[in-house]
Amino acid sequence: MDKYRILKKYFGYDTLREGQAELMDEILQGRDVLGIMPTGAGKSLCYQIPALIFPGITLVISPLISLMTDQVKALNQAGIHAAYINSSLTEGQIAKALENAKRGQYKIIYVAPERLETERFMEFACGADISMVTVDEAHCISQWGQDFRPSYVKIIKFIERLAKRPVVSAFTATATERVKEDILCILKLNQPKVLITGFDRKNLFFKVVQQRSTKQKEAAILSYVQEHMEDSGIIYCATRKNVEAVWELLQANGIRSGKYHAGMSNEERKQSQEDFIYDVSSVMVATNAFGMGIDKSNVRYVLHYNMPQSMENYYQEAGRAGRDGEEAECILFYSPQDVMINRFLLESKVGNSELEPENIMLLQENDEVRLNKMNYYCLTKDCLRHYILNYFGEQVSGRCEKCGNCQAEYEEKDVTDICRDIIHCVEQLRQRYGMNVIVDTLLGRNKAKIRSLGLESTPSFGICKGEKEGFLKNIIGELEQQGFLLPTKDKYMVLKLSQSCREIQNGERQIFIKVSKEELQTQTTETKKASKRKSDLLTSKGLELFDVLREFRLALAKEEAVPPYIICSDKTLTDMCIKLPKNKQEMLNVNGIGESKYEKYGERFIEKLREFTHGEEMTLYYEEALTEQEPIAEEKTTKRKGKKSEFSLTPEIEQQIQYTQQTTISDFVKQLNQYRNEDTTKCLSTTFITRKLVEEGYLKEEIVDGKSWKRTLKKGEDIGICEETRQSQYGKEYQVLLYTKPAQEFLINSLRDRWQI
Ligand code: ADP
Repeated sequence: MDKYRILKKYFGYDTLREGQAELMDEILQGRDVLGIMPTGAGKSLCYQIPALIFPGITLVISPLISLMTDQVKALNQAGIHAAYINSSLTEGQIAKALENAKRGQYKIIYVAPERLETERFMEFACGADISMVTVDEAHCISQWGQDFRPSYVKIIKFIERLAKRPVVSAFTATATERVKEDILCILKLNQPKVLITGFDRKNLFFKVVQQRSTKQKEAAILSYVQEHMEDSGIIYCATRKNVEAVWELLQANGIRSGKYHAGMSNEERKQSQEDFIYDVSSVMVATNAFGMGIDKSNVRYVLHYNMPQSMENYYQEAGRAGRDGEEAECILFYSPQDVMINRFLLESKVGNSELEPENIMLLQENDEVRLNKMNYYCLTKDCLRHYILNYFGEQVSGRCEKCGNCQAEYEEKDVTDICRDIIHCVEQLRQRYGMNVIVDTLLGRNKAKIRSLGLESTPSFGICKGEKEGFLKNIIGELEQQGFLLPTKDKYMVLKLSQSCREIQNGERQIFIKVSKEELQTQTTETKKASKRKSDLLTSKGLELFDVLREFRLALAKEEAVPPYIICSDKTLTDMCIKLPKNKQEMLNVNGIGESKYEKYGERFIEKLREFTHGEEMTLYYEEALTEQEPIAEEKTTKRKGKKSEFSLTPEIEQQIQYTQQTTISDFVKQLNQYRNEDTTKCLSTTFITRKLVEEGYLKEEIVDGKSWKRTLKKGEDIGICEETRQSQYGKEYQVLLYTKPAQEFLINSLRDRWQI
């Protein structure tokens, strides 16, 4: 069977994506390959389809159990016999799997790299007909990569012991020149075809939000999640402590969320991961321990509560959004303290490693360079997408018009005078302090630390009074980037002056920075959202059907004990709503339905569709959007752009409201949002309501452990807002605000008569 027939029959797709055909052809001609393609590009098919055409077995070396399990489940669902052999199996199960493998029962076998070193596996491999060895996540072979795995280095020994040298194919998403060279060299690839496809993920929207305080960050993240209650998303934090804090914040606001970090037991982590994959919880708050091997295709946003350690990490984590090719957002909430946190984490990483001392130094330097590049991503006012692509070696310039920076309006501001003040200040402080002390001195802040250092008597004290702290910090960041200020590499990061500062002092150099209008106006706590507004291609009736199909998919997933996306993707469901297939032929035309999927579920889906349409012809999508965007084919988004108006309390909404004895603010707001016309109207946010209540003296804001909590005041109690003490999973007490019926009525009256959104 040729590759296109296999593509259709087993995977249900009609066309191959960029790079796939070329890599498959090279492999099929017996040539080694290295495929460097971004997450979600479709690397798996590049080796799975040749594996089905080759006469013998393909061994896929993969670093993570979850990754293997997922892939094998997906293959078996597609009607392809595959197995995995790793430490999650008992010795008995391994023996059985190897026996089956010897009998030729599997075309594809996934193994962990450590397994190759065992005698039993070697014995099997020497007696088997192995056509190809595929090395997945091949960057694990390089010490310069992010996830170095020593046993990857030994793969070549295994290959060399085989009776016949198989084709070797390697794949990765993140590879700088150095990592690429390592893969080629350590795996001893034989005159390989190296294919690097574009790294651009067009469906991802990138944005950096500058936040100066923990409180601001938390408020922004909470409001983002509340505005995307229907979507699945991941929030990455740098430390376990932050994961706990953000998770508790979400829990306290009634948001179904899970958490994941190395401090939890295996059992807890597994449960949390499953809840997320099975859509039981919609948000996952996690450290970077989470995500590798998670192929959840409908993640609609990835937020970073802290800046990651490198662009490689960032692109990999952010890249977990929108694997289904539909619009998704990647927002990084940045504060300058993130640099310190990461420096600390990097130091402890190197401190714990078993590397030779000379390598440790090299690694440290490398980490520092990567961290600086990451930091500059957060500070740059240029196109974020192009910054990423340039980092990964793709030469692009100009603007993408689809990232936070391209969409923000900037003003170029001449800040040369302020730069002179900063340089003077650093000189007067004898180059002994870091960013915070310098800024506090310039702003003339009467802080204990400044007084104790005796800095209130320096001439620079208060010279920039009236400027915003964030603005000064941005200018200092710019001076660092341009090499005028040199941060030391120790924990305290003192700022030193470089020779070139003289050029500024002598009037030979002018410094401009871009300042966004947003920054110039207020330091708002709410994230400015991407200007694009997502609304489905489907009409509200179409969305109703989509929900029915989604429910049905969940039921099938439970029957089969696999995650819903393994049954089929959201994109496939959307395509069903558009095409409303009535028979086998039409069902096979649906994106993502191959023969095997059809055999398993096709008729049952057709039956569901029939129940919904009662056999009538109907159109459940916006036709003009389809002609604009072409049918649901590859890479096309199912989202329609269009501006929505702010939420307003209409008589129709009011008529439907059901008052309850008591409720939380999120549930109440959720109810109101349900009744709005979601095609035309934005969500009402709980942040808006609580902000109003604080402004009007019904609630007060209290900061505990650096977190913001709302408490009721006498005036709030009078209108029926009461507090209930609850206990978190960790025994910590927190207060939940409950709104009784009179309080709910008060909110409705205020929304109708007084509050302007
Ligand atoms: P990667 O390993 O590169 O991150 P995957 O192999 O997991 O990406 O593929 C990502 C998604 O894209 C999967 O859901 C896969 O089924 C889908 N996909 C891959 N190739 C194609 C194709 N040619 N047409 C449509 N969808 C595809």
